[in-house]
Amino acid sequence: MNHLNRTSSRRNFVTRVSAGIGAFSLASVLPSLSATASVRKSGKLGIAFIGLGNYATKQLAPAIEQAKDCYLAGIVTGTKEKEAVWKEKYGIKKENIYNYENFDSIASNKDIDIVYVVLPNSMHAEYTIRAAKAGKHVICEKPMALTAKEGQTMIDACEKRNVMLSIGYRLHFDPNTREIMKVAAEKPYGNVQYVQSEVGFTIGDPTQWRLKKTMAGGGAMMDVGIYCIQAARYATGEEPVAVRAQEFKTDNVKFKDVDETVSWQLEFPSGAYSNSTTSYNARANRLYVSYKKGAAQLEPATKYTGIKGTIQKRVLDVQPINQQARQMDGFAQSVKSGTPSIVPGEEGMRDMRVIDAIYRSLANGGRRELV
Ligand code: NAD
Repeated sequence: MNHLNRTSSRRNFVTRVSAGIGAFSLASVLPSLSATASVRKSGKLGIAFIGLGNYATKQLAPAIEQAKDCYLAGIVTGTKEKEAVWKEKYGIKKENIYNYENFDSIASNKDIDIVYVVLPNSMHAEYTIRAAKAGKHVICEKPMALTAKEGQTMIDACEKRNVMLSIGYRLHFDPNTREIMKVAAEKPYGNVQYVQSEVGFTIGDPTQWRLKKTMAGGGAMMDVGIYCIQAARYATGEEPVAVRAQEFKTDNVKFKDVDETVSWQLEFPSGAYSNSTTSYNARANRLYVSYKKGAAQLEPATKYTGIKGTIQKRVLDVQPINQQARQMDGFAQSVKSGTPSIVPGEEGMRDMRVIDAIYRSLANGGRRELV
């Protein structure tokens, strides 16, 4: 097994939390650089984005401008017009621009160390595996795949080529969220009794890929429900053992193919349990954690900026930070130093197993154990 992708067990939860804090502190004291592409290259790893949609354009590209350990070295796009725009705006070399057909030739490009997969969910596995075969380290957006089985093929492909795989879980690099993880690891208020997490928004365009099961794998659950699963897992520091899920639908036309609103409950080994709701038809963005002797909350809990809340009376409001810049820097540091990412492929797999069980519960009803 490749040491870089080794599964982190729950026993390592405390280590992972503190390692992440260490990595994030290091990044925060490095000097800021904003120069031309050629200057930026020194000491930095080159990342190529594949899929130049909303998230890559509006969040990742501006964020990587603030990164200290990596820079935008290349792009992969199927849209000719985007090539000139991105080349000009980010100083990308002509020979570092690929399309979906010639993507595999990226293998011989020494400027590209990491491929960042920012495509619709159904394309994550194919392009992660192709990037691994090209010998590139990979960051893949959430949800890592459509099923846990597919996620495993991605981990296997990366292990086989001895490249690292990380999932785009930016919240693991957010200082306020990390405080919640730290409490789970150190238990100053005793065991977690209960977690409530809710993430939802009202989705627009009825023709978008997010509403097509073949491309998205599911609806709100796959897209933002995954944040509730993450929250329940990092707020408890435990892996769930069983789930019960319920689905609610108000619009059978728009949501004929995917889930609109899902609620579910997770059971954890310590006896803690969580209750979550995700929706494409209601706004929600919060996390509440009840400990034996106290409580914590975050609201908003998953936004790109402004995550804030409290642990007991202590206010969590470290601002502003760029989650995506820290996330990409964090992975670049892992690749450079050969230390495992704090959000490896296995972290994505843990969520995929829960999602699989939620869909099994929705299909067949009742309590489903995690396999
Ligand atoms: P988007 O629809 O805006 O962009 C998708 C991109 O894929 C587009 O550039 C599109 O041209 C390209 N593409 C290539 N082949 C395609 C095809 N067959 N059908 C449709 N598009 C195709 O989507 P997005 O919002 O940028 O999301 C992309 C990924 O990033 C998703 O997996 C999503 O879950 C993830 N995401 C993560 C976060 C986060 O906070 N971590 C936020 C938003 C999106």
